[in-house]
Amino acid sequence: MNYKYIVVGAGLAGLTVAERIANVLEEKVLIIEKRSHIGGNVYDSYNEEGILIHNYGPHIFHTNDREVYRYLSRFTAWNDFWHRVLTYVDGNLIPMPITVETINKLYNLNLSCNEVEEFLKKQALPINEIKTSKDVALSKVGTDIYQKIFETYTKKQWGIDPGEIDTSVISRIPIRLNRDTRYFNDRYQGMPKYGFTKMCEKMIANKKIKILLNTDYKEVIEDLQYDKLVYTGPADYYYNYKYGEMAYRSIDFVFETFNREEYQPAPVVNYPNDYDFTRITEFKKLTGQDHKMTTILKEYPCSDGEPYYPFPTKECKEQFNLYQAEIKREKKVIFLGRLAEYRYYNMDAVVRRALDIFHGGFNG
Ligand SMILES: Cc1cc2nc3c(=O)[nH]c(=O)nc-3n(C[C@H](O)[C@H](O)[C@H](O)COP(=O)(O)OP(=O)(O)OC[C@H]3O[C@@H](n4cnc5c(N)ncnc54)[C@H](O)[C@@H]3O)c2cc1C
Repeated sequence: MNYKYIVVGAGLAGLTVAERIANVLEEKVLIIEKRSHIGGNVYDSYNEEGILIHNYGPHIFHTNDREVYRYLSRFTAWNDFWHRVLTYVDGNLIPMPITVETINKLYNLNLSCNEVEEFLKKQALPINEIKTSKDVALSKVGTDIYQKIFETYTKKQWGIDPGEIDTSVISRIPIRLNRDTRYFNDRYQGMPKYGFTKMCEKMIANKKIKILLNTDYKEVIEDLQYDKLVYTGPADYYYNYKYGEMAYRSIDFVFETFNREEYQPAPVVNYPNDYDFTRITEFKKLTGQDHKMTTILKEYPCSDGEPYYPFPTKECKEQFNLYQAEIKREKKVIFLGRLAEYRYYNMDAVVRRALDIFHGGFNG
């Protein structure tokens, strides 16, 4: 069969490109997806009790990118939502990221914003060359806060010491010298009014888009002709692991439903030092759904299973460079998204990347 355009993977990256091909170029496009549903990791669904859950972990949309926000707003209205996270330390729930409130609660103090700045300066360790996530944390908050909040959480999350992880992981966590306890301070934040899956369905509501679910692209690709293939699956799989399997961190998601209205005081509570799970999400607190029961999710990071997070080490980057060299030589295939580019993208960043790839000479 002949399709000018084929997209492998129905996550946000693949759906964005397919939507643009159908609506801007007015061309037909075939999406091949190995899972039984669209949306990739942003997929959400109603469980047996009728509670909307995020099947692959909590997803909160936030961005400073006005164009991406406006683009996605064509497919969904948004519920106002300001994400908040608490962290369980020494028997107390303290706000994350680190704010003036966090320091005051952690040390039972009553410092002003300026005093907290001074306090953190005294705690911070002088580190000449910042090479790892551990260096980042120690140079910003010192040993005690590093141990209480970051060290064990990061070890649980990645299975290795923060001293072996590149700076990107802890650099993402801001420190605010004010009392703003919102988790993100992006200009646009929200949850899709009817969920992410409904938003994704709308993105591809065009007769020019055909979708083949439950199909690994390798099962069918030999029988298809195309001018351009947009590939959003894992790069190592595409090249039959010729440079070895790329390491990913996976998560075992364990859902529990309780016959009561509320479970915890915030949408997400982190557990850096206690238990094997890293965090608990209560979905109703993300979605705003009214229900007399409530569903929570505990996340147990692990090395085997679905690939979720590319591994943030120097060795993995070097290994991926070998695949990258092959990718650069491709004429008909574009590698896009978190698996194909072996790169952690937030939702807004992956949509931005897909729009840029499409608008930057995709037709050429
Ligand atoms: C636990 C977790 C929490 C997150 N929370 C947030 C958040 O709060 N906010 C935020 O902005 N971002 C969040 N993200 C990131 C967000 O999930 C990604 O930005 C987004 O999923 C990337 O889209 P993608 O299309 O690149 O990848 P994916 O969503 O993974 O889509 C790739 C698709 O390709 C399919 N595929 C793979 N191989 C094949 C094959 N051989 N044949 C056919 N199909 C194939 C897969 O089944 C999948 O559906 C989170 C990610 C995780 C893992």
